[in-house]
Amino acid sequence: MKAKEQILTLKAYQPGKPIEEVKRELGLTSVTKLASNENPFGCAPAVKDAVMDELDRVSIYPDGYAAEIRDKLAHYLGVLPRQILFGNGSDEVVEMFCRTYLSPDTNTVMAKPTFPQYRHNSVIEGAEIREIALDDQGHHDLDEMYEAIDENTKIVWICSPNNPTGTYVSKEKLVSFLERVPKDVIVACDEAYCEYVVAEDYPDTLALQRDYPNLVVFRTFSKAFGLASLRIGYGVAHEDLISVVDPVREPFNTSRVAQRAAISALDHLEYIEMCRIRNREGMDLYEHFCEQYDLGYYPSQGNFILIDFKTKQGDEVFQFLLQQGYIVRSGNALGFPTSVRITIGSEEQNKGIIDCLSNWLDAESEK
Ligand SMILES: *Cc1c(COP(=O)(O)O)cnc(C)c1O
Repeated sequence: MKAKEQILTLKAYQPGKPIEEVKRELGLTSVTKLASNENPFGCAPAVKDAVMDELDRVSIYPDGYAAEIRDKLAHYLGVLPRQILFGNGSDEVVEMFCRTYLSPDTNTVMAKPTFPQYRHNSVIEGAEIREIALDDQGHHDLDEMYEAIDENTKIVWICSPNNPTGTYVSKEKLVSFLERVPKDVIVACDEAYCEYVVAEDYPDTLALQRDYPNLVVFRTFSKAFGLASLRIGYGVAHEDLISVVDPVREPFNTSRVAQRAAISALDHLEYIEMCRIRNREGMDLYEHFCEQYDLGYYPSQGNFILIDFKTKQGDEVFQFLLQQGYIVRSGNALGFPTSVRITIGSEEQNKGIIDCLSNWLDAESEK
């Protein structure tokens, strides 16, 4: 049996270490996972009640069209219901766009390093991948990305805030890019962390879609809304474009429980506001810590920070924090070998990590 050539080059997704395994291996009673940018506060309490209530109906297929959450989300976003495409997480929306537009005779342009699923799904479709290095500020190099576009380019990916750097593309830069990009090339803006953004020049991409119908926006309930395990995300685009991609979707790709949770989450936006504020407070602590110890970092608009330890490998910092009961993400696998990516946690978690790291760095400087 021979699989498609391009599949043989891929590796299955490497998940972070599960909490239970770390506890067992290291004999720790408390382990905190700050590796996947999940919401440290969980979802709003009322959302949990809605989920519990929906459990009475798990034997019944969900509404494949997701009409109720569709209407609610459309109202929240200020778009038409038919402009939305739901996915089993926004990962699946990425996959559906790749299935629809990419093939071996096409190419796709993305930053490097960025969120790995654009590349992964593009490889599966056999498309040529054009990766453009982030600039030295960790920003998407939109001039170089523009240069990489040709008549076979189908999708250009912009991750903003970018995972793993947390950097974003300003409105001015995005608009000047959209002005130049040919109208038959999709510009896919992945805004998985938009609810955390506080930068004033962050673009209102949904408003820009009126002028640029090739602009597609991907968002999710996994991060700020705290619903990662339920798997519900969405794409927003011109309704003609969505109607092209929609047949690729599995008929029941978002569950009844996920739809219900998302509806409830939109009824409790004050909770998201609280999370955004707490996240910023945590970010300030980390930035202060980095400055104090002369560590590198990219100013982040997400709920994570990529910290460059300069003289240490990311794996070494990861191992050190693991011994202390904190699971973070080593930058070695993310394209930043001397960095770790840490999800902003609760105040207690942030202070805990910063204390550990400070003690460690202090002890080393005394040697
Ligand atoms: C986490 C993440 C996603 C995927 O989220 P799901 O909706 O859980 O699939 C998409 N894009 C980026 C940049 C992410 O960090």
